[in-house]
Amino acid sequence: KRKDRAMPELTDLSYVRALCEKYDFALSKGFGQNFIVNPGLPPKIVDASGVDKRYGVLEIGPGIGVLTRELAKRAAKVVSIEVDERLPPLLAETMAGVDNFKLVLQDVLKVDLKALIAQEFPGMPVAVCANLPYYITSPIVMKLLGDRLPIESLTVMVQKEAADRLAAAPGTRASSAISCAVSYYATSKMMFTAAPGSFYPAPKVTSAVVRMEIRPTPAVQVEDEEGYFALVRAAFGQRRKTAANAIASGLGMPKDAVTAAIEAAGFDARIRPEALTLEDFAKIQSALAR
Ligand code: SAM
Repeated sequence: KRKDRAMPELTDLSYVRALCEKYDFALSKGFGQNFIVNPGLPPKIVDASGVDKRYGVLEIGPGIGVLTRELAKRAAKVVSIEVDERLPPLLAETMAGVDNFKLVLQDVLKVDLKALIAQEFPGMPVAVCANLPYYITSPIVMKLLGDRLPIESLTVMVQKEAADRLAAAPGTRASSAISCAVSYYATSKMMFTAAPGSFYPAPKVTSAVVRMEIRPTPAVQVEDEEGYFALVRAAFGQRRKTAANAIASGLGMPKDAVTAAIEAAGFDARIRPEALTLEDFAKIQSALAR
């Protein structure tokens, strides 16, 4: 409690400005730096993540540590991966005295996360919780899901539009290739939105938190996973085209063969990719392989 009182609120804009000035730090657009300045948000994000004192939490992009501090208060241990080499001195100040926190200064897309998790969180349930850099939302989510990491869930703040895609069920209008990928590995849920004014500087768009819970086994069984995702990506590769046209051009296959496979799988030749579920794509993949 005393430590808390001595520490200024990290969401206090005048403190953030003074901190940045003290370390001659200018927020980087290129790194997608929009720091949380709404004091209600960190507790709400951590609530959504469901983590408690048993958990090891992997955070991506701690910034000056606004969410990190709340996570450290409520989880067993927090490991945060940050790419910006200018941030450690600021974090040393804002995270002073927090002994269950560790900073890993690296690009999240280049880290061996499996090894990191094994090393940092032995025997602990692990969750990912982060306010993601919006310019690489998809690559980060795909890495976290596709690497089959021993994690229970991902709770991420992203751009609202991206959140809609992450949370969309395959076979529905809002679905896309990433909705299918998420749904293959996890169940997902839209939790809440946050207005631009909750961040400094305010982004142009609304943000939202999505929670993904990793399935024990993928939602559908496919023989060739790589081929399956290549098919899904191809199907969504050209907006407003039929799945048949998009698959034919995306995979470089004759249109007739693709149409025949789609019909053999039991679908109309003119079906759109958004109308297809994970099972449907699996059926089309099998038909194409025959
Ligand atoms: N968690 C802080 C908050 O909520 O106030 C900052 C969130 S800010 C939207 C995104 C953070 O991700 C920034 O600190 C940025 O430097 C970091 N970042 C950007 N690209 C990254 C990468 N490739 N690997 C790790 N961190 C990255």
